[in-house]
Amino acid sequence: MKIGFGYDVHRLIEGRRLVLCGTNIPCEVGLLGHSDADVAVHALMDAILGALALGDIGKLFPDSYPQYKDADSMKLLMRVIELMKENGFALGNLDITIVAEKPKLAPYIMQMRKNLAGVFGCDISKISVKATTEEGLGLAGKGIGAYAVALLE
Ligand code: MG
Repeated sequence: MKIGFGYDVHRLIEGRRLVLCGTNIPCEVGLLGHSDADVAVHALMDAILGALALGDIGKLFPDSYPQYKDADSMKLLMRVIELMKENGFALGNLDITIVAEKPKLAPYIMQMRKNLAGVFGCDISKISVKATTEEGLGLAGKGIGAYAVALLE
């Protein structure tokens, strides 16, 4: 078994979509980034790459490359899952915590879990997505952060 941890933060700005775990979330602000800035999927990819000791997404998908401009992070995740399989591993389970002051994410959590179970081709019971605020401290509405832990076996 191998375990990996990932962490990411993106800034919230006007005029961008908000996409978390492949789910479009209605919001007056969205996350700034070279790709679609799906911060939760970025943390998850880093957790898997960390477990495999294969570096991070910055190494795999450099943001200096035009082909990753506005990239669908779920498609990048599929590439990371392929790498995981090529290295002889399958997902044991994963746990993501999204840190956001707004919007309220509870109504979207089940869809996020379904999206991830779909790309891993696994049962949804292996996929945990949670959301929390930082009580107005920390990111304080300026951005959204995500932590991810993945167990591979
Ligand atoms: Mg990122």
